[in-house]
Amino acid sequence: MNKVKIYNKVKENDVVTSFYIKSEDGKELKKNEAGQFIAIKPIKDGENKSAIRQYSLSMKPGEDFYRISIKREEHGLVSRYMHDNVQIGDTVEISDPLGNFILKESNKPLVLLSGGIGVTPMMSMLYKAVEQKRDVIFVQAVLNSTAHTFKDEINSIKNDNTNVKTAIFYQNPLESDKKGKDYDFEGVATKEWIEENLPKDGDFYFCGPLGFMKHVYDTLRGMDVSEDAINYEMFGPSKNLANL
Ligand SMILES: Cc1cc2nc3c(=O)[nH]c(=O)nc-3n(C[C@H](O)[C@H](O)[C@H](O)COP(=O)(O)OP(=O)(O)OC[C@H]3O[C@@H](n4cnc5c(N)ncnc54)[C@H](O)[C@@H]3O)c2cc1C
Repeated sequence: MNKVKIYNKVKENDVVTSFYIKSEDGKELKKNEAGQFIAIKPIKDGENKSAIRQYSLSMKPGEDFYRISIKREEHGLVSRYMHDNVQIGDTVEISDPLGNFILKESNKPLVLLSGGIGVTPMMSMLYKAVEQKRDVIFVQAVLNSTAHTFKDEINSIKNDNTNVKTAIFYQNPLESDKKGKDYDFEGVATKEWIEENLPKDGDFYFCGPLGFMKHVYDTLRGMDVSEDAINYEMFGPSKNLANL
């Protein structure tokens, strides 16, 4: 593990906070591939001091800093500790970037789908795809504006890049949430919506709650999208969606 410094802490919304990380000694951080994560050991004292959790890197790959974006779990050990205890200037221990959930080179249209906090690896893939000038459809499903992570950042990428299209789903919009401005669709991305709006010949990457991922996987397989065009990551124990 490497000792690094938290140099910024930004509240994204009611549930998610981003932490910006630089090395402590000015040494370069190892460059990441789009989609990778780091492991972090933030607790310094007490019985939980060896607790380690994984967080996807959510910034543009290749920056000289890391950004992780953490959803606070009410009873969670590390996510709660990060939100409530870790402050700007603190040091934490992290691994180098890890993981095989990586955006592969391809000319096919790219579809990035996320549910909730599963947006984090999708964000770095979006940046990478924009750099490669790929056609991207970015589908983001969240509860409502209280959990709409990276809204302004994604809008700004979309406004600057005509090859990026977005579809934002609010499962349960607040009265103050405006359709057409804050979000595009109420409810979830149904089987019918996916079949009608996503390209069969695309490369698909997705991340989110297990039920969301199983639904996306089954729908894509039902559209005859081949296994090798389907890529996903679980934020818990890894499972093969084909066997669930
Ligand atoms: C590859 C990978 C990438 C990931 N990327 C991200 C990311 O970008 N952002 C992100 O936020 N997360 C990410 N995660 C998930 C993250 O690693 C943690 O699993 C998550 O933050 C929960 O950790 P925790 O220590 O807070 O919760 P834990 O203490 O490990 O608890 C796990 C769950 O159990 C619940 N729980 C614990 N104790 C109780 C109790 N007494 N009663 C009821 N419920 C309880 C918690 O609420 C929590 O939901 C990723 C995971 C993986 C594997």
